Amino acid sequence: MATLKEKKHMSAVADLGCAVCRRMGYEGTPAELHHPRKLAGGWGRSSHMLVIPLCPEHHRGNKGLHGLGTKGFEKYYGYDEAALLKDTLSLLGDPYQEQQED
Ligand SMILES: [Zn+2]
Ligand SMILES: [Zn+2]
Repeated sequence: MATLKEKKHMSAVADLGCAVCRRMGYEGTPAELHHPRKLAGGWGRSSHMLVIPLCPEHHRGNKGLHGLGTKGFEKYYGYDEAALLKDTLSLLGDPYQEQQED
């Protein structure tokens, strides 16, 4: 279950548009949310706060994160989902800093 804060964050992330398209210079491509589970687990934070906006193509398409796989994706684009997550968090501010007070 996502808390209200998490839900707000997730909708703000989706509103940014696809993170891969953004790096290609196209802002605001309608996006769905990708949960980088390994990263979330590694950082010990709520996975709902660590989501990346990806358009259907860059998410589930042949040239997407799931289509290529994490390693294939990194090889193809030259950056990984951690870089995209960093982009996302720096655009929105760092939501899990404030979460530590909970
Ligand atoms: Zn995209
Ligand atoms: Zn995904």
